[in-house]
Amino acid sequence: MAGRPLQRFEVVGTQQLAPHMVRVLLEGSDFGTFVPSSFTDSYVKLVFVPSDVDVAGLPRPLTLDSFAGLPPQKRPSVRTITVRKVDAAARRIALDIVVHGEHGVAGAWAATAQPGQVIYLMGPGGAYTPDPAADWHLLAGDESALPAIATALEALPPNAIGKAFIEVAGPEDQIPLTAPESVQVNWVYRGGRADMVSDDRAGDFAPLVEAVTTTLWLPGQVHAFVHGEAQAVMHNLRPYIRKERGVDKKWASSISGYWRRGRTEETFRQWKKELAEAEAGSR
Ligand SMILES: Cc1cc2nc3c(=O)[nH]c(=O)nc-3n(C[C@H](O)[C@H](O)[C@H](O)COP(=O)(O)OP(=O)(O)OC[C@H]3O[C@@H](n4cnc5c(N)ncnc54)[C@H](O)[C@@H]3O)c2cc1C
Repeated sequence: MAGRPLQRFEVVGTQQLAPHMVRVLLEGSDFGTFVPSSFTDSYVKLVFVPSDVDVAGLPRPLTLDSFAGLPPQKRPSVRTITVRKVDAAARRIALDIVVHGEHGVAGAWAATAQPGQVIYLMGPGGAYTPDPAADWHLLAGDESALPAIATALEALPPNAIGKAFIEVAGPEDQIPLTAPESVQVNWVYRGGRADMVSDDRAGDFAPLVEAVTTTLWLPGQVHAFVHGEAQAVMHNLRPYIRKERGVDKKWASSISGYWRRGRTEETFRQWKKELAEAEAGSR
C-alpha cells in the first residue's frame, strides 16, 4: 500500500460507543477517490502527519514516499483500522477505534478527535468475506477485531449458522450487534483493558482462547475469521483451529494478530516478519 496516494479526510464527529471504543466519522473532498471494498474486513491505513509538517510543500502525488526526504521525526506514523461503515450518500466513513490510554497514536487520537482535524488515509485493503458455502462460521477476536466481526455478522445471510466470540474488558464494553438468529454471539470478559490486565488474563491465558477452545465444535465445514492480540491468536487459536481441528487453510486463511501487547504497530510489524521467517524456516 506504501505507494498508494494519500486521501485527505476531516473528522466531522465522534461517538463514544463504549468506554474503550470510539467511532470517528470522516468526510472529505477525496471521498470521490475512495473506492469502498466489498470485503467485510476492509481496512485503511491511517496516516498521522506531524502537525509541524507543511504537506502543501511536499512532492505530488502525495504518497508515503513524499515524506522520504524529511528527518525521521517528521515522517508520519501509520496505523491500520477497519472501515466499519461507508455511507456513500453522505460521503462519510466510520471507523471504530479502541481507546487504550494516552500511549500510542490511533487510540489517543480517537479519544480526543475534534471536528475539522485532518487525517490521511491509504486504501482500502481487505481479504475476507464470510463464504456462503460454509456450513458454519466461527468469528473470534478482541475489541480490535470487533468492527470487522460486526461487519461480517451483518453480511451473513439470515439462515447462517455460527458462533462469534468477542473479548472485551467487561459488560460495559458490549455494543449492540446485528446477527442472524442462528449465530450465537458470546461476549467474553477479561476484566480490564487488554494492555493492562495481568499476564494470567492475556496472551496464552486470554479468556478468548479458553472460550474458543472449549466451545462445542459444530458439524460440517467451518469458515473461520480470528483476529486480535497476536500471542492469543497466532500461538493459541491458530494452532487449535488448523492443527487440532484440522481446518484447511482455504477455510482458515483469515487468522492473524491485529496487534501485540507491549509493541507499537511499527515494532509489531517487525515481530510478524520474524515469525513468518521462523515459520518458513521450520517447514
Ligand atoms: C487489518 C487490521 C484491522 C484493524 N482494525 C482495527 C480497528 O478497526 N479498530 C482498532 O482499534 N484497531 C484495529 N486494528 C489494530 C490496530 O491497528 C492496533 O491496535 C494498533 O497498534 C493501534 O495503534 P495505536 O497507535 O493506538 O497504538 P500503538 O502505538 O501501535 O501501540 C502503543 C501501545 O498500545 C498497545 N495497544 C495497541 N493496540 C491495542 C489495543 N487494541 N488494546 C490495548 N492496547 C493496545 C500496544 O501494545 C503498545 O504497547 C487493526 C489491525 C489490523 C492489522
